[in-house]
Amino acid sequence: MKKTAFFSALRGFSSFLLFFLMVGFVVSCCMLLFLNVLSDEMGLIYNSDNIAEAAKITFLNVLIITVLFKTADFIRRKIMVDKPVKIITEATEKIMNGDFSVRIKPMHGSGMEGFNKVGEAINSMAEELSSVETLRTDFIANVSHEMKTPLAVMQNYGTLLQTPNLSEEKRNEYAKAITDASRRLADMMTNILKLNRLENQQIYPNLTTFDLGEQLCESLLQYESTWERKNIEIETDIAEGVSVSADAELLSLVWNNLFSNAFKFTENGGRVSLTLKADESYATVKISDTGCGMSAEVGAHIFEKFYQGDTSHATQGNGLGLALVKRVVDIMQGEIGVESAVGVGTTFTVRIRRAENELEEAR
Ligand code: ADP
Repeated sequence: MKKTAFFSALRGFSSFLLFFLMVGFVVSCCMLLFLNVLSDEMGLIYNSDNIAEAAKITFLNVLIITVLFKTADFIRRKIMVDKPVKIITEATEKIMNGDFSVRIKPMHGSGMEGFNKVGEAINSMAEELSSVETLRTDFIANVSHEMKTPLAVMQNYGTLLQTPNLSEEKRNEYAKAITDASRRLADMMTNILKLNRLENQQIYPNLTTFDLGEQLCESLLQYESTWERKNIEIETDIAEGVSVSADAELLSLVWNNLFSNAFKFTENGGRVSLTLKADESYATVKISDTGCGMSAEVGAHIFEKFYQGDTSHATQGNGLGLALVKRVVDIMQGEIGVESAVGVGTTFTVRIRRAENELEEAR
């Protein structure tokens, strides 16, 4: 600490000396020129006393000018440099200690533009970090909360299974409840891992060109038993020969989730429709249902992790499906939209870029 103060004093003194020498040099040169002109033009002759007197006055003047300039420069630096640097350093230290609420106010005055730019960059960084932190803590809270329910179910039914002289029917019922809860937990973990890998870009899309209509039909057919059980009418309008260049496995996640929701939220006797249309650049898929629909408020949050607008179906999902869907569509540089009305139904529209070679042929 003492060493730093010593070196800073030394630096201050050497800068003062340098400035003093520079001013001394400039003033001496000016004086010499001035005296030369005077002696040449007016024939003045200087003796050693005059010169010694002039040198003393010049030295004093140079000293005063140097002190004045250095003091003015010191005050300017304190106000224009040290103060903003202190504000910025304090803010970054707070951010380093985890306080992301800190914001640097714009500083007024000329010469502050550079500091204001740094301040703005730090403010955006703090905002970004604070939203990441909120997401992280929300995510942990949600995961813990979502894990508690199936674990509690498993614990309760596990205890019930230990009851002596249990009937075969009851034993099966309790065992099924445990299996269902553990499946939910496993599904949730799989979805969390997938989402995590998608968000951290650990999954690199494996692009292939394939027939989108065929993929959609395959995905829809997985729900055959559900639509038969619930007596749901199926309507399809699929344009033929529409190929897309995408990651087939990732894209099938999108259709599976959208169909699964359509069948889940549609009551017995309802209708689920699938249409595939294509223009020059995009393939457009619409998956509609005549289910319960959702309000605008719910619609605004459905792509958020763990959000469940409809709690009556909460045991059949974990609110991660549409977050995954959105992430995959973003990775494919596609678009997803939803239109819905409570009691009428819901339509999800997904737009995916068509295969490049097909576009070439169309041109
Ligand atoms: P989950 O289905 O597991 O609840 P999702 O992320 O798939 O989670 O969906 C989030 C929410 O979006 C659902 O809880 C529901 O409120 C709403 N939602 C999604 N699809 C539909 C649909 N087809 N009809 C009505 N609501 C839907």
